[in-house]
Amino acid sequence: MLTLKNVSAGYNGFDVISDISLDVMEGENLCILGPNGCGKTTLIKTISGLIPHMGTIEIDGINISDMKRTEVAEKIAVMSQISTIYFSYTIYETVLLGRYLHMNGRTFKEPSLRDREYADKCLKAVGLYSMKNKQISTLSGGQLQRVYLARTLAQEPNVILLDEPTNHLDLKHQAELVDFLRDWSKEEGHTVIGVFHDLNLAMKLADNVLLLDKGKIAAYGKTKDVISSKLLSDVYEMDVAGYMVDSLKQWESIQNGPAQTKLRKIK
Ligand code: ADP
Repeated sequence: MLTLKNVSAGYNGFDVISDISLDVMEGENLCILGPNGCGKTTLIKTISGLIPHMGTIEIDGINISDMKRTEVAEKIAVMSQISTIYFSYTIYETVLLGRYLHMNGRTFKEPSLRDREYADKCLKAVGLYSMKNKQISTLSGGQLQRVYLARTLAQEPNVILLDEPTNHLDLKHQAELVDFLRDWSKEEGHTVIGVFHDLNLAMKLADNVLLLDKGKIAAYGKTKDVISSKLLSDVYEMDVAGYMVDSLKQWESIQNGPAQTKLRKIK
């Protein structure tokens, strides 16, 4: 479905990512991992056509350089990191904007019943349906992140690109989002490509992992193989598995250890 062949891209004439080749199938979830500054966001921007590239990016066998901007947008939707809100719409209006490409009319686009129903479906999926008439300027970072996710889903893209989609979310919503994305891709045959910092979330979501190191592919393959590889620790310059296992042991010792002093909820 999505193929990159020897792709390089960057800013002001300097490559930040180079020689990236990958193949993502329909219904596949791919996580991009790597330390700060290794080029994860740049790769997401490159795939979505936001910055120019060398090499070839194809969707369903068609080179994106030969497609119109709107044609690319019908296939690929990006949910980027939260930016400043300049205009306040309601949650519902914001999500309905994601349907824009599907709406009828040339100059003035009119949402159809299906557009409205689809926007509602996406709002229900992210748990915001009951508050859909609230202004987005009044929302917390986590709520806003879910609004943007619903808007991205409302575009009904084949491929969804997510750049740190959980960075504003509390634990419960992180877990729910990852479960939702996994079901969404498997049941509806969509493809999710996401940048995650949390390796546990990446493991829950991803079929495959692309590990970047200084703009180049350090490892690419099945999630279990990449996560268990020594390369992961080399790239992050720390004993990743040791750190994870230590954390788990701490949890275990708390749960299995002697009874703790009971804390009462402070009213
Ligand atoms: P990551 O997402 O892995 O943290 P980025 O793709 O954001 O990494 O950044 C990779 C490198 O590209 C960094 O050195 C960063 O400073 C540089 N970079 C990112 N955005 C720009 C930009 N708009 N102009 C110039 N350099 C940039």
